[in-house]
Amino acid sequence: MLQWDESEDPPNKSHAIGLQSPVANMSFAAAPATLASRDRRSYRRPTPPPLASASALFLDIDGTLLEFADSHSGARVDADLADMMPALMRKLGGAIAFITGRGIADVDQLFPGLHVPVAGQHGCERRSADGTLHMHAPSPPGLLRMRDALTGFAARHHGLVVEDKGHTLALHYRQAPQLAAHVHRTLRAQIKDASMGGGWRLQPGKGILEVKPEGRDKGTAILDYMREPPFRGRTPAFIGDDATDEYGFAAVAQLGGLAVKVGKGRTTARYRLRDVAAVRRWLRAAL
Ligand SMILES: [Mg+2]
Repeated sequence: MLQWDESEDPPNKSHAIGLQSPVANMSFAAAPATLASRDRRSYRRPTPPPLASASALFLDIDGTLLEFADSHSGARVDADLADMMPALMRKLGGAIAFITGRGIADVDQLFPGLHVPVAGQHGCERRSADGTLHMHAPSPPGLLRMRDALTGFAARHHGLVVEDKGHTLALHYRQAPQLAAHVHRTLRAQIKDASMGGGWRLQPGKGILEVKPEGRDKGTAILDYMREPPFRGRTPAFIGDDATDEYGFAAVAQLGGLAVKVGKGRTTARYRLRDVAAVRRWLRAAL
């Protein structure tokens, strides 16, 4: 099998594994030992084997199925992806779910008419295959104060954008990457501020730092799906590209499934695909 040499760390390591590494907070029994290793050679990963039709497929969206747009709202689903998703759903008996930081309503706008199961806001909201909506992690009492604080902070710095998703708040700094360290420092202090009510967790991503309630993540969302039809009894596969996806990788590994990291960066995933185009080819090959 081909080995892709992952020899280069991203420019800012704090973004690759997160200032608050998701793995450090994992509720699962054990994270693979490779994550603790500083040896870059440990991050070489083979390409994944073909996707079996008995799989349950879990997909991150941004940076995995879709290239990053200049702005969060600028992402568009192209005809290739719009054609492929229904075909994949048929192939896998409907056992596909998006596992994303986006809100469910946002995903429905992106994929109109697809009616795919979605876990949104890093697992804080989840729509089952039968359409049942599960809202997890009631918002901490400081949600409004947190939103006001972030909005005020963003207003003082050109290029920062706050997105209120309902249960989670995202601070986008893709347009102002020079502010990354300042953003991380400020929000780290913010979630510890007693007036914010406590119970917050930071979720770093690519050009984004999110504030979310503790207790739910992409891994818990996948485990919840795996207890329900049509996912139950299948072998899970999860593909993702960012720090938040490490929770999902650990969940599928726990169930003997396929964890696939997209692009560069340290990971606990066993497999790697180079980029969005490679993900699309791998998925197409399963049809
Ligand atoms: Mg992503």
